[in-house]
Amino acid sequence: MHRRLIIIGSGPAGYTAAIYAARANLKPLVLAGAQSGGQLMITTDVDNYPGFPEGIQGPDLMEKFRKQAERFGAEILDEDVSTVDFKQRPFTVVVSGRERYTADSIIITTGATARWLGLESELKLRGHGVSACATCDGFFFRGRDVIVVGGGDSAMEEALFLSKFASHVTVVHRRDTFRASKIMQKKLIDNPKISSVFDSVVTNVIGAETVEAAELENVKTGEKKVIKTDGVFIAIGHDPATGIFQGKLELNAAGYIKVHDGTRTSVHGVFAAGDVVDYRYRQAITAAGMGCQASIDAERYLEGEAPEVMNALKVS
Ligand code: NAP
Repeated sequence: MHRRLIIIGSGPAGYTAAIYAARANLKPLVLAGAQSGGQLMITTDVDNYPGFPEGIQGPDLMEKFRKQAERFGAEILDEDVSTVDFKQRPFTVVVSGRERYTADSIIITTGATARWLGLESELKLRGHGVSACATCDGFFFRGRDVIVVGGGDSAMEEALFLSKFASHVTVVHRRDTFRASKIMQKKLIDNPKISSVFDSVVTNVIGAETVEAAELENVKTGEKKVIKTDGVFIAIGHDPATGIFQGKLELNAAGYIKVHDGTRTSVHGVFAAGDVVDYRYRQAITAAGMGCQASIDAERYLEGEAPEVMNALKVS
């Protein structure tokens, strides 16, 4: 039950780390989670992953990642990790509350999940006009009207990006002021293709096959109105999957794992990559790139970095 390297989590970061580690002969064990593959498993068309000029379905892309890792000898278990111990070496990882594995090094790639409003209609039309990623889906809304829900930096960023394609973007926010930085708010206000509706929430997404309209409710007056729209982008934040690492690794205020010098966490020998670290780019290709970095960092750590490098990298 001892491994040189355990990768916790799957998705583009985890599988890429596994491909590189397996090819470096580290025989990694990937604890992929009961629902392996990450956010792309619930995505339809992926048109921005290089190497697939015709596009590819999210689950098909993840299947290819996984097969490629297995081809080089990565062992993959679709199990959830329940607890970890990074105080003792070797590190301990308990799987599904029963099996204990130990490892000399760990890579964490547990990802993050987009927050949704929790409406039945939102779930029904997800991938058919409802999205949580403008970078992924904005292109499909050329010349259309879209709504962005949220008042933080992500909502501003999504709205500004969408304004390059859409004919009009309406930002719907539940309070009377945005939470976003002033500079982002100014960009939004200065953009003639964007307007804002304050003190309002989306209470229903309307459409049979695709989004046709959205019902908004003013939270102060209770007044309801329906506005025509072709797309609804939810930008109300993400939740990094770091529950089991709380108190064991340094996290930022939003719960993302802090890294330094590449993919190193606050515990020497534990690395992190992908959306569990990165709240800025959140793309499959950036997660994959970071998974590669984590694998190379772990390999160098396992080979025994020079003492002066180890000292320079030590987290106080
Ligand atoms: P955020 O700052 O937490 O903002 C989430 C927004 O969604 C808030 O305005 C919140 O409303 C709203 N919201 C939350 N739950 C909602 C619900 N159920 N219904 C309606 N609205 C809801 O999240 P974020 O914008 O994703 O940003 C996360 C972090 O990344 C922040 O620190 C941000 O600064 C950073 N970020 C930076 C950049 C950049 O620098 N370019 C870009 C993106 C993100 P309330 O305001 O009422 O709470």
